[in-house]
Amino acid sequence: MQIGKDKVVEIDYTLTDPSGNVLDTSRERGPLAYLHGTGNIIPGLEQALEGKGTGDALQVRIPPDKAYGEKDPKMVQAVPRAAFRGISDIKPGMQFQAESGGGQKQLVTVVGVTDDQVTVDANHPLAGVTLNFDVNVRNVRDATSEELQHGHVHGPGGHQH
Ligand code: ZN
Repeated sequence: MQIGKDKVVEIDYTLTDPSGNVLDTSRERGPLAYLHGTGNIIPGLEQALEGKGTGDALQVRIPPDKAYGEKDPKMVQAVPRAAFRGISDIKPGMQFQAESGGGQKQLVTVVGVTDDQVTVDANHPLAGVTLNFDVNVRNVRDATSEELQHGHVHGPGGHQH
């Protein structure tokens, strides 16, 4: 079966950055199952998998505009240290869940600390990074009507609810 819209695709993958560092891999966690054509995975990877089938192996290089986007300088902001009340030892590299204006939760990374200000970066940690994916297609099947309704895959490698 070929990969196309509304197929459930199971893949093994290893994600590396341009220096060859492994950023993520399904090796220990088990294969990832996603619903094709719904934006469950980054656009560049979804495009590369279109038309492939079980047993296919591919290596894809995905530029930031088809992955997590370019870094947006406006998403780097200095906030008063008082906003981090209760946390005594703030260091660059620490990550926090912040609430944005719309009440959405957002992961921010501390990039700078002074006595009265903390600079946080709300860009996705992989924004601006070219991604190399090494992918093996394990299985392709039709999605169930329930999966199509929910917009994601159920069962192993997908949602467990
Ligand atoms: Zn569901």
